[in-house]
Amino acid sequence: MMSETAEQVRESASEPSLRRDLRDLSFEELEKIVAESGEQPYRARQIAHWLYRRGVDSIDAMRDLPAALRAFLKHNFKISPFAVAAVHRSGDGTRKLLMRLADGEEIETVIIPADSRVTLCMSSQAGCAMRCGFCATARMGLHRNLTAGEIIGQIFAARLELAEGEEITNYVFMGMGEPLANYPRLLQTLRAMTSPWGMGISPRRITVSTVGLLPMMERLLADTSVNLAVSLHATTDEVRSRIAPINQRYPIRQLLDTCAKLPLKRRSRITFEYVMLSGVNDSPADARRLVKLLAPLRAKVNLIFFNPFEGAGFSATGRPAVEAFQAILHKGNLTATIRESRGRDIAAACGQLYAEHRSAD
Ligand code: SF4
Repeated sequence: MMSETAEQVRESASEPSLRRDLRDLSFEELEKIVAESGEQPYRARQIAHWLYRRGVDSIDAMRDLPAALRAFLKHNFKISPFAVAAVHRSGDGTRKLLMRLADGEEIETVIIPADSRVTLCMSSQAGCAMRCGFCATARMGLHRNLTAGEIIGQIFAARLELAEGEEITNYVFMGMGEPLANYPRLLQTLRAMTSPWGMGISPRRITVSTVGLLPMMERLLADTSVNLAVSLHATTDEVRSRIAPINQRYPIRQLLDTCAKLPLKRRSRITFEYVMLSGVNDSPADARRLVKLLAPLRAKVNLIFFNPFEGAGFSATGRPAVEAFQAILHKGNLTATIRESRGRDIAAACGQLYAEHRSAD
């Protein structure tokens, strides 16, 4: 990311709409701005503390900064408020937030309580270019990448929706967008989430899910210690190319060979996501092929119930067939969990709330 010096920002002293969001700056940029405004280096940590620990949405709230520094920041930067356009609450506790960004784009963020965990499912792009056949977001196409501030802002907006005593325990990048297609901003966000100067979240609590952008998978595991999930969804190239067109660029063999070489941390495994589509990828033969394909890897499988949406063109595999599929995986010594479908009553498929909201506008 280009760095902007204090001199440059002073020159562009600016229209609110032209000011950069403070949460879009890397920590190094914050340090540079502080140094060039003549302040002590520790002020950068103070600013980061207000942004990422306290989650303030105004520069005035940064009370321990000198008035001159606050004035300088206010003149040149902003903290964009996050407008929650709609919240849909499911009977099972799932809450789906539709956020409206400054330019009118809308993204989804989902709070999913299950067992003793509360997982936040975050978006990395407005829309998505990956064209997966079973995904409502794919129908939007890619509108744009989210900024780091917009990605991390979802956490602060979601926190306001939590019940008393409820806390987010896990963070997954499985919302709108392909996170590795927005890599620089994803990395900046992950740094702000996991660094001591940022939110201090353990990387083990964060999972980045990809449909399989191979070169970026290697970079992610070299640059961070977060968990990786790969959307596999099929056991033959013919089927995978149909439901996840990225497979035409990176076929299954190449994907799994890359996974085998990834620098996994000790005891960690790659999660393979597998959405169960009736009559498409859910046969016993598929289960046996999956066992063979994943046998050489440190892998586990999440079997996901498909959440149908209008015009999807797929239907969900029923529970007995999902359990029979899981049993074959277990027999082949492959760890497999069934991900219960959450929030079915609130348009739970990724991109579905957006689509419904737009059609109601
Ligand atoms: S499943 Fe994920 S990668 Fe595929 S189109 Fe939907 S948002 Fe994009």
